[in-house]
Amino acid sequence: MSSDPVANLIRIIEERRDDLVELTRALIRFPTVNPPGEGYRPCAEFVGERLRERGFEIHYIHAAGTPGDDERHPRINVIARRAGMGAGPCVHFNSHIDVVQSGAGWTLDPFAAVVKDGRVYGRGACDMKGGLAASIIAVEALLDCGERWPGTLEISGTVDEESGGFGGVHYLAERGWFSPPRVDHVIIPEPLNVDRVCIGHRGVWWAEIETHGRMAHGSMPFLGDCAVRHMHAVVDRFERDLYPKLAARRTEMPVVPSGARQSTLNINSIHGGLAEMPGYPSPLVPDSCRMVIDRRLLIEEDLDSVKDEVRELLDQLARDRTGFRYTLRDIFEVRPTMADRNGPVSRSAASAIRHVLGRDAEFVCSPGTYDQKHIDRVGKLRDCIAYGPGILDLAHQPDEYVVIEDMVNSAKVMALAARSLLHGIA
Ligand SMILES: [Zn+2]
Repeated sequence: MSSDPVANLIRIIEERRDDLVELTRALIRFPTVNPPGEGYRPCAEFVGERLRERGFEIHYIHAAGTPGDDERHPRINVIARRAGMGAGPCVHFNSHIDVVQSGAGWTLDPFAAVVKDGRVYGRGACDMKGGLAASIIAVEALLDCGERWPGTLEISGTVDEESGGFGGVHYLAERGWFSPPRVDHVIIPEPLNVDRVCIGHRGVWWAEIETHGRMAHGSMPFLGDCAVRHMHAVVDRFERDLYPKLAARRTEMPVVPSGARQSTLNINSIHGGLAEMPGYPSPLVPDSCRMVIDRRLLIEEDLDSVKDEVRELLDQLARDRTGFRYTLRDIFEVRPTMADRNGPVSRSAASAIRHVLGRDAEFVCSPGTYDQKHIDRVGKLRDCIAYGPGILDLAHQPDEYVVIEDMVNSAKVMALAARSLLHGIA
């Protein structure tokens, strides 16, 4: 073994390329589809038992009573912890083990974990079992590199990220598993590309707007009041007043892709009128129309003001338009989060990327959210980033894959970053 610990780490990970591939494949073969939350326990136990053999203390945490938790689909999380020699910080790698439905359009079996052309294919390969496998290989290399290290290493496999994280990181953060002094630095191996450090994400507000009308026979619409026409007025106000305002609101957050570097609002759906049966369209003037909006907010925006902006637009319509009545319901909300790009975990990851890939890391923010929100807002731990091998654009797609070379490189980056954090040299 060389006397240079960094060279040793890199060589060990290089030698474990096959182990990394096989570990990724084994993880993909657990069809941990969410919803409903299939196969969480065996997948968590697979991770836990592998790390137990390496001297980790293993905790299985059942998030009882959280959404979707029942006897058939228990929400089982795993946290593995191993102390080094002497006092020092705790570096934690957090991956979600759940995956989204495979959906249509696959040319390969989504859970067969096929290896082809230097890639591993399968649902979750990119988002984010390849990242979980890379973090396990990185940590095992730290144990085997012959160097004593201070502090503590943790790896977690958590559930339900794809449905908001309430049975996973949110549940654990509420119970202190993600708070200092237990944990000091967190790396989440989400797919943000192998040369990027993701320091945060935009916020979300999902809401339902319902316009109300009065039912009548379709041949005499003047006797009723059409809720769909009222909804049209809402869309029209969005087009004329709201969208230009949102487009003008730019952010300091380095969100990728750059189109998301502003406030956005998507209209997810509109449902108006009576439910139809095949061949029997509704013959009535609709008395209700519902729209679901997905508003993404910036670190510079305040959630209450974001809601007020929409409510004021609707109130203005109520003043301007005869018969306009509405209901506004919150569905889901997440505040934006952004770590300091000069904080220890960002700096250590960036310098490891420079060392391993020979180029400067790009600092980015994610257009959508992931579990960092719970670690920041609930766990009160700010020094958290996402860094992993997957290619962002492939997440949730058919024929999802992870590039083996990217996994090897990201495992090196994770090992080097963790080492410098443990030794306090970040
Ligand atoms: Zn993910």
